[in-house]
Amino acid sequence: MEDIAGTTRDIVIIGSGPAGLTAALYAARADLSPLVLEGPEPGGQLTTTTDVENFPGYPEGVLGPKMMDDFRNQATRFGADCRWGTVTAIDFKKRPYKLIIDDETEVFARALIVSTGAAAKWLGLESEQRLRGYGVTACATCDGAFFRDQHVVVIGGGDSAMEEATFLTRFASKVTIIHRRNEFRASKIMQKRVLEHPKIEVIWNGTLSEVLGDKIVEGVTVRNVESGEETTLGDVTGVFLAIGHKPNTDLFRGVLDMDEAGYIKTKGKTTYTNMPGIFACGDAQDKEYRQAVTAAGTGCMAAIDAERWLGEQK
Ligand code: NAP
Repeated sequence: MEDIAGTTRDIVIIGSGPAGLTAALYAARADLSPLVLEGPEPGGQLTTTTDVENFPGYPEGVLGPKMMDDFRNQATRFGADCRWGTVTAIDFKKRPYKLIIDDETEVFARALIVSTGAAAKWLGLESEQRLRGYGVTACATCDGAFFRDQHVVVIGGGDSAMEEATFLTRFASKVTIIHRRNEFRASKIMQKRVLEHPKIEVIWNGTLSEVLGDKIVEGVTVRNVESGEETTLGDVTGVFLAIGHKPNTDLFRGVLDMDEAGYIKTKGKTTYTNMPGIFACGDAQDKEYRQAVTAAGTGCMAAIDAERWLGEQK
């Protein structure tokens, strides 16, 4: 990072999922040599997924990490400068904005594109946090293969839970979905795959009340939300959380306007935030659609908005 310390860039993009890398592609093609600070998970959430079948242009589907490599290669081909670094502080008081990368390197940005995405949510049980990485995880793609011929549970009733449960059947002998209501919110096609799968069972109206085990997962306790009755599944060795996401926007709290969940508010149909020269795109500002293709779309918008805004400053 030393080579960029103290430099001022027209556009700095924070985050490198579909939104950030599409913003990078458009800003690079506008000759603005954007700097992309890739963050703690370069490529974003799609690097922890397997097959992406709903991104246009890949008729046979594509692996998430491969797709994000394609995004990055396309942006760098036109001059985007992608760096493995995380923004740890920003001085919003004067422009160009001063960014601190990994607590040490300073760079300055005339315009800033926030594409920091979102991260998996946890239930917050003491036993869940204690056994994180020891059988409790939020990423089936990363950890599924460790549970060959074992019984695992998936918590949640959305598309992620369906996708994770279906994926886990490749390895596990049995997958039990625990959902707090008596119907899924997932899309019909993904529900159908789950409900028809011989290895998948569903516990309706259930919440995970305890993960059992001292050093590794040795079972779970499930509470029925109607009767309060507790059931123990003593042979479970893996717990996969799929209960949604939280936007990665803590860095901007108190500065950028946000809703109560932390999603950044943008003006009208644009990516303008309440701060001059700061634009937001992707899952950091979208709790509605949260798709790779919509994130890429808003990334494109952010680059165009930033380019026009920079033009107006001259
Ligand atoms: P989601 O749609 O928000 O679903 C979260 C699920 O977790 C819901 O069923 C919710 O229950 C449950 N939940 C939330 N908090 C809980 C808690 N504290 N305890 C127990 N259960 C809890 O999140 P998602 O499944 O991650 O999907 C997010 C977005 O990505 C969606 O738009 C989805 O369509 C999209 N997505 C698409 C694909 C694909 O097309 N391939 C794959 C994955 C995700 P309730 O239903 O009761 O609220």
